[in-house]
Amino acid sequence: MLIVMHHGATERDIEQVKKTIASLGLKPVAIPGAERTAIGVIGNQGWVDDSAFREIRAIREIIHVTKPYKLVSRDFHPADTVVKLSRSVRIGGKSPFLTIAGPCAIEGREQLFKTARFLKSLGVPVLRGGAYKPRTSPHSFQGLREEGLDLLDEVRRAVGILVVTEVMSPEHVEAVAGKSDILQIGARNMQNYDLLNEVGRINKPVILKRGLSATVEEWLASAEYILLGGNREVILCERGIRTFETATRNTADLSVIPLVKAASHLPVIFDPSHATGKRSLVPPMSLAAVVVGAHGLLVEVHPSPETALSDGPQSLHFREFERLLAELRSLEKFVGKQGLQK
Ligand code: PEP
Ligand code: MN
Repeated sequence: MLIVMHHGATERDIEQVKKTIASLGLKPVAIPGAERTAIGVIGNQGWVDDSAFREIRAIREIIHVTKPYKLVSRDFHPADTVVKLSRSVRIGGKSPFLTIAGPCAIEGREQLFKTARFLKSLGVPVLRGGAYKPRTSPHSFQGLREEGLDLLDEVRRAVGILVVTEVMSPEHVEAVAGKSDILQIGARNMQNYDLLNEVGRINKPVILKRGLSATVEEWLASAEYILLGGNREVILCERGIRTFETATRNTADLSVIPLVKAASHLPVIFDPSHATGKRSLVPPMSLAAVVVGAHGLLVEVHPSPETALSDGPQSLHFREFERLLAELRSLEKFVGKQGLQK
């Protein structure tokens, strides 16, 4: 429920509303906004009886929010959320477009350092790389796990680049958060609620990928778990969904980018690599994502995709990635005055 106050409402009126909310065993949340003073109500598990508020004359309107997500919605937070990744790197709102790139999996020191140095030389601020890999087959490479995390920690210090990596289980959240700058929740874990609750407790940005067969509502409800835990730094990532089509690995659902931007204040990025599964489709779909308003990209790049231990066919060669960055820059007019944060 959302309680909108009259323009002339005083601090005392607002206090009265908050007390009334608390007296019902619910929690008031401040809704920031220049145009209106509003108070959100959370903690209810169904319809809230609003009769206790009807006597309060300073209330202009009571809006019952029936969506399964509230804190994530524009109703509760009208302004864009800008997630701070470091002192100088931000994503969301009018921040410059952000490209995140790197291998699917961390395979060893040489592969990781080579990629990190290459990206750093191009000004790319964030390196991706999986230490814990959710693989369809247990016979496939499962990632270097703790050893991969140590390499990530080493590379970010040595090269001066931010790092993002996937966390697959609640028990690993603390360790992964200690050795990375951004945590990723993969498509297969989008509805792992214990994991969502656990990353909700930490103080690090989280990239939440859309589940393979998740609706937008389910995806946003998953993000709600993280915000409700207290972590407001969530970045949504569209990575393609399961459809009848087999010509591509997944079906890139670019329409959700403007759709989700209208429904939610959180930044939204696009992963053209998992969305298509094909290297040749990564550049055109990346450009399309910029045009439809994505705040950034998550792209797989590998020094030798032919020998990659996972997702080689969808990983760009260095020279292809460099060309893509140049093409992205030519779309500057779509990404606002500040241009691209490579
Ligand atoms: C990945 O980013 O390497 C990955 C496993 O992605 P997804 O969870 O989208 O399949
Ligand atoms: Mn991958």
